[in-house]
Amino acid sequence: MLPPPEVLLLGPGPSPSSPAVQRAQSWPQLGHLDPAFLPILDGCQQGLRELFGTANALTLPLAGAGTAGMEALVANLVAPGDRVVVGVHGVFGQRWAESVRRRGGEVVEVRSDFGQPLDPTAFAAAVAGGPTALCCVVHAETSTGVLTDLAPFAAAARAAGALFAVDCVTSIAGAPLAFDALGVDAAFAGTQKCLSVPPGLAPVTFSPRALAKARQNPAPVPFYFDTRLLTGYFGPDRAYHYTAPITLLYALAASLHEIAVEGFAARCERHRRVSRMLRAGLAPLGLQPLVPAAHATPMLTTVRHRDGVDDKAFRACLRQRHGIEVGGGLGPLAGKVFRVGLMGHGARPENVLRALAAIGDALAAACQPADVAAALQAAHAAG
Ligand SMILES: *Cc1c(COP(=O)(O)O)cnc(C)c1O
Repeated sequence: MLPPPEVLLLGPGPSPSSPAVQRAQSWPQLGHLDPAFLPILDGCQQGLRELFGTANALTLPLAGAGTAGMEALVANLVAPGDRVVVGVHGVFGQRWAESVRRRGGEVVEVRSDFGQPLDPTAFAAAVAGGPTALCCVVHAETSTGVLTDLAPFAAAARAAGALFAVDCVTSIAGAPLAFDALGVDAAFAGTQKCLSVPPGLAPVTFSPRALAKARQNPAPVPFYFDTRLLTGYFGPDRAYHYTAPITLLYALAASLHEIAVEGFAARCERHRRVSRMLRAGLAPLGLQPLVPAAHATPMLTTVRHRDGVDDKAFRACLRQRHGIEVGGGLGPLAGKVFRVGLMGHGARPENVLRALAAIGDALAAACQPADVAAALQAAHAAG
């Protein structure tokens, strides 16, 4: 069998992996209880605590997509009939609300239009409007590229005695989290965005308060997500719960090592820098970002299409002529925007320049001429 083509992954995830992360996936297979593997697992858990900004004992890379992490939080922290306030200003807020409804939670959605930030005052009013068990906010809404300042949402949850849970799938390893300082009780992430590890792991963390709620949950928690059983394997006992995906955990360990070597502050600055470069390069191409810089995620930029450009043909041109993947719009933004992810190993200046040149060419292919040289120059100047 021939390997698939190389594609530069500049969409909403998965992101490209570094050579070191790729090599780690060919390390020898070990058993999930092998004495040579357990220190690697310890290192993954400690590295994740640092990224989440937490001392929570139950911090672990759950096997599964980011959505499995969401389901783990919902299964543990929601009992049927619980009032749960969810911020919804994009597809991932909608997904979270839907998951809570399926668990039997009574969802109160606090909505903003796609592309707009959530309103913390409206959120606080909704939380105060009834006995609230849990508040849920998406930190970096990947469907729009809006970054939420979590502090006022955490304060609203705390004032009401509710648990506060965060979806940080896209922000982990690309933006600071500081969850203990903020008072975040539980969070879930994914490895295929700014961690630049293949999809298939969902880092999750539970505070002692969240664990207490999980253990009193009157509704049975699915076996896979049971925090006692997870603590069995991911705690000091190292008792078998499920067979951990050893190869993905090697990749995560290699990625966490790279983050430590680069330095987390430098990594965040690198994400901000490439985001500035990309945004500066859009204007000479006649393009505008959907979200103003003040609310924008550094790792994902949503770009409005120029009038008359066919989204599918545009993205097919990027993929076929240039070997570049970008994302399309979701929900009400479908066909109207495209999404450029500069995440983890993909967040590099040369990728911004490649993307801008390819975007200019795809516009030309759609009979929409664009000044590529000016775009590259503007990007350079902003770096
Ligand atoms: C990608 C993403 C998810 C879902 O992750 P999967 O691995 O596809 O399940 C959830 N929330 C946000 C904010 C995301 O960007």
